[in-house]
Amino acid sequence: MKKAEDYRVAIGKAHEIFARIEDMKIPVVAAIHGACMGGGCELILACDYRIASDDAATKIGLPEVKLGIIPGFGGCVRMPRALGYQAALDIIVQGKAVDSRKAEKLGLVDKVVHHSILEAKALEMAKDAALKGKRVKRFQPKGVMGNAMEMAPARAFIFSKWKEGTAKQTGGHYPAPLKAIEVIEKTYGMSDRARALEIELAGFCEVAVTDVSKNLINVFYLMESVKKKTGVAGDVKALPVKSIGVLGAGTMGGGIAYVAADRGIEVRMKDISHAAIALGLRHAGELWGKLVKRKKIDRYELGRKMNLVSGGLDYAGFGQLDVVVEAIVEDMGIKKKVIGETAGKCKPSCIIATNTSSLSVTEMAKGHPHPENFVGMHFFNPVHKMPLVEVIRGEKSSDVAVATVFDLAKKMGKLPVVVKDGPGFLVNRILVPYLIEAAWLLQDGMSIETVDRRYKKEFGMPMGPFTLMDEIGIDVCIKVSKIFHESLGDRIMIPPVMKKLSENKERLGKKSKKGFYLYDDKGKQLEIDQTIYSELGLGQPSDRLSADETVRRGIFPMVNEAAMALIEEKIVETADEVDLAMITGTGFPPFRGGLLRYADTIGAKVICDELEVLASKYGARFKPCTSLNHMAKSEKRFY
Ligand code: NAD
Repeated sequence: MKKAEDYRVAIGKAHEIFARIEDMKIPVVAAIHGACMGGGCELILACDYRIASDDAATKIGLPEVKLGIIPGFGGCVRMPRALGYQAALDIIVQGKAVDSRKAEKLGLVDKVVHHSILEAKALEMAKDAALKGKRVKRFQPKGVMGNAMEMAPARAFIFSKWKEGTAKQTGGHYPAPLKAIEVIEKTYGMSDRARALEIELAGFCEVAVTDVSKNLINVFYLMESVKKKTGVAGDVKALPVKSIGVLGAGTMGGGIAYVAADRGIEVRMKDISHAAIALGLRHAGELWGKLVKRKKIDRYELGRKMNLVSGGLDYAGFGQLDVVVEAIVEDMGIKKKVIGETAGKCKPSCIIATNTSSLSVTEMAKGHPHPENFVGMHFFNPVHKMPLVEVIRGEKSSDVAVATVFDLAKKMGKLPVVVKDGPGFLVNRILVPYLIEAAWLLQDGMSIETVDRRYKKEFGMPMGPFTLMDEIGIDVCIKVSKIFHESLGDRIMIPPVMKKLSENKERLGKKSKKGFYLYDDKGKQLEIDQTIYSELGLGQPSDRLSADETVRRGIFPMVNEAAMALIEEKIVETADEVDLAMITGTGFPPFRGGLLRYADTIGAKVICDELEVLASKYGARFKPCTSLNHMAKSEKRFY
């Protein structure tokens, strides 16, 4: 649907159906088992009583704002009446879902029972209600009498706090959550249902026709599409994976072990240091401990998950493993040696996957006696938060190996994308030119604060490039830039400030509490370290570049690199995959639909022309690649 009028007609029909259910003379009971989200949740709100199963799969919520729309089948009107406006704001504005216990606490369901007796209990409830007569009154706000929070001044204050917080959180890029607050505020307490639904519909139409909503819906489908994929062509079957080994229990290995065990996969870690194993286990325990505190899992489940992970300094148990993920030091020689040694301890069908971020998978496979059983499995840091996994197909990787690791990544709750082997694979290769450009901007007189603000607040990146470099580690960024310069040539030019930065071994970013910013003992970002400008031999920043130029200098080279990776080198097969990977691997703003959808809104010609201008001003690193030039001339789009 494209026009507001289309929405009006379709939603008008839904309103009629929901109103008929609500107005029935007999009581209506909703029995809920499984996902009850969006329209499903709005349907149960039009019923008199709600009973839910206590199954883990039962989730009730209104996630509409995540798609750039607001609940349109009466959710904004009925939920605040059922729950009170504060609990409803919490669910609707954040696009949340709750489990059945929480739903019961909130009053979103009247009763929770075991799945096996759900239907019988629902019937009982209906009979009981029929005997008592239909008594639920929906069009009165919950607790209107004698509740201080229902008084107009208190309400106005709470709504204004929600608006303020939401405006800050969405940075003006996502209109739906604010629209939902506005609709709830206007309709809450209204006795005229038709009028209230009319206000909701008007709000819905306003946000549904925006590009933001279209982009968010596309991103949703993009993520859903991965569920159906296998990572390979044809009907190659993934091998079943019950247990995995993890080599190296450091930052990445520990994270990988946690995520796998969390999803019920048995994990055996191997390291060369007892301390590392202990730290890996403790880290996993702490993450689960947080879930216990937040009542997401109970103590029994905590014990069960902890029991799935073990570790040691030898290869004990490796003979039974289905997959081994390697996450030791980033050194080709050591990795090859360890991979060969590991292959000797495992069964012949075991697949070894490397988590390398910069080394060639094809080259590393030479360490494996059966290179067809070797692939890349590149997780992002922190592993438990970042959804992307790049599955790297080396020259000799077999289809079965790729399919198995792809399937394993999905089992671990990740979104895998298959990429060809090549420097930086897909995401880092596109991201590094952007990070280096931030250092060039600093070199050219821009302040850290302005650059970070323009990318984060104005463009919508999850954090500015300097904050990101502090997170990654300035030393790591410099090391990676050098590797990329060797393989990508002129496109990666390291500015003098970066060379100077590498001289200060105490300015490593967050891990040393000092980078572009200062950090406290808990790793919280404090202010910018103003001494950095003089340390790097720079004067006081002038911020002389426009916001447009600041952003284009970082984003357009990413488009250029992506075009080359996609069209010329076929690192991935589709523009969709580039967008999915950039959103899930770097947090590229979803409301823009992805890097290449964003590029299409600007147009290849505009991007090429601007890159030419930048190249003449600042150097060859901006030169548009052949495929982008071709797209500009033939007015082609990525989509
Ligand atoms: P880390 O230093 O935190 O951990 C490496 C671990 O490997 C250490 O515990 C070390 O004791 C252990 N180790 C070293 N040699 C070993 C051997 N021969 N056998 C068993 N264990 C051994 O490093 P990390 O940051 O977790 O990185 C590991 C790998 O993951 C590297 O290849 C890195 O490029 C890659 N990676 C890192 C990140 C990141 O952001 N840190 C992101 C993606 C990929």
